[in-house]
Amino acid sequence: MTKKNDALAELIAALKTLPSVGVKSAQRMAYHLLQHDREGAGRIVTTLQNALKQIIHCRLCNTLCEHEICHLCSDEKRDHSRLMIVHMPSDVISMESANCHDGLYFVLMGYIDPTQNRDIHSTGLEKLLDRIETGEITEIIIATNFTAEGNATAHILYEALKNYPCKISRLSQGMPLGSELEYIDSGTLAQAVYERKCLKN
Ligand SMILES: [Zn+2]
Repeated sequence: MTKKNDALAELIAALKTLPSVGVKSAQRMAYHLLQHDREGAGRIVTTLQNALKQIIHCRLCNTLCEHEICHLCSDEKRDHSRLMIVHMPSDVISMESANCHDGLYFVLMGYIDPTQNRDIHSTGLEKLLDRIETGEITEIIIATNFTAEGNATAHILYEALKNYPCKISRLSQGMPLGSELEYIDSGTLAQAVYERKCLKN
């Protein structure tokens, strides 16, 4: 009787949990690591274990970081009255490289999509509401992607925030539908921030 290759099957199933990785890609990755790069595989295990132990969400902006409060939220030189809402930590990196926003951020860690069980509360938005209620924030810039999901998220955010006494704006709509912030060049991104559209004063 042949023994089943359980460890290999489990590795392929684990790799398949990565976004955009199907069975074929997961198999290719597993064969590559086992056949050609066992050292690299060991590094993935160690770094992933360390990351799981050390990386948490910033108590204020929800981004991933290694301290209770991230380096941007604790930077007193930044403008603490302007807060930009983005989808992912990679969007913060894009904004910082475009050098067009010196305020703070709030990171949703995805889209708000009630049909997928991701309502406004599962984004950690209570953290943001607590912050708005301190009265420190005077402008919220909604900087979600220019995709159908990003537009829907922007609409839900606006409805949830419109009654708070702060200005709300959104990045200018000059970009084609389907644009994701992290793939937009720095110049275009900076222009979208400078020409942001005021939704409410
Ligand atoms: Zn933070």
